[in-house]
Amino acid sequence: MARKFFVGGNFKMNGNIKSIKEIIANINEAKLDSNTEVVIAPPCLYLLLAREHLREGIEVAAQNVFDRPNGAFTGEISTDQLKDTGITWAILGHSERRVILQETDEFVASKTKAAIDGGLGVILCIGESLEQREAGKTIEVVTKQLKAVADKVKDWSKIVIAYEPIWAIGTGKVATTEQAQEVHAAIREWLKKEVSTEASDNTRILYGGSVTEKNSCDLATQPDIDGFLVGGASLKPAFVDIINSNS
Ligand code: PGA
Repeated sequence: MARKFFVGGNFKMNGNIKSIKEIIANINEAKLDSNTEVVIAPPCLYLLLAREHLREGIEVAAQNVFDRPNGAFTGEISTDQLKDTGITWAILGHSERRVILQETDEFVASKTKAAIDGGLGVILCIGESLEQREAGKTIEVVTKQLKAVADKVKDWSKIVIAYEPIWAIGTGKVATTEQAQEVHAAIREWLKKEVSTEASDNTRILYGGSVTEKNSCDLATQPDIDGFLVGGASLKPAFVDIINSNS
């Protein structure tokens, strides 16, 4: 079965009621490739607004979820609460959370397990720093991040991997198609060896990091690039062109 192209929009901590409604209206009115799965991730305060306004067939993701059931965890949101409000995905392991909020591989894995067990889909972000890339450690870093998840999660059918080199995020410095394809192929190989042939064949591996409507079509031609996780450009009307870049 061919892997369905997948495009996620990660708004990060951007937007307000007015701008998010405008972004959603633009997506709702656009002609989108029906062979592409689209998920948008506004800040948690706007998740319900997004769900209420987005047209059917486009899903909404939280940018985080906690790894415990409802209870005394000030400031956190549970899997059950997301599901209750029609939010079906969570972005986990984003480098901004790994670096700024010091989330460990183990914590990301624990949250991934809670989300999957609770019935959410997970966009699992992995990626190396510039220093790690220059030291030739890219594959080592990303497979270590993946292994932490594989130690806890056996069913990968609801996981989408987003390979996001940290040096490419928000910098305008996109990975070349060759750089991205090389890492994506290595991830797929790792899935085959460490998880299963089925997971290797079926898991979507997205590229993220300075994706725009100008570079997305080129990147989309690569055999192991199954879509994108888009930050800055997901806030702009041209996000629609990125969604349609595999057409
Ligand atoms: P960017 O961010 O597209 O703004 O580089 C991507 C991401 O962090 O998911």
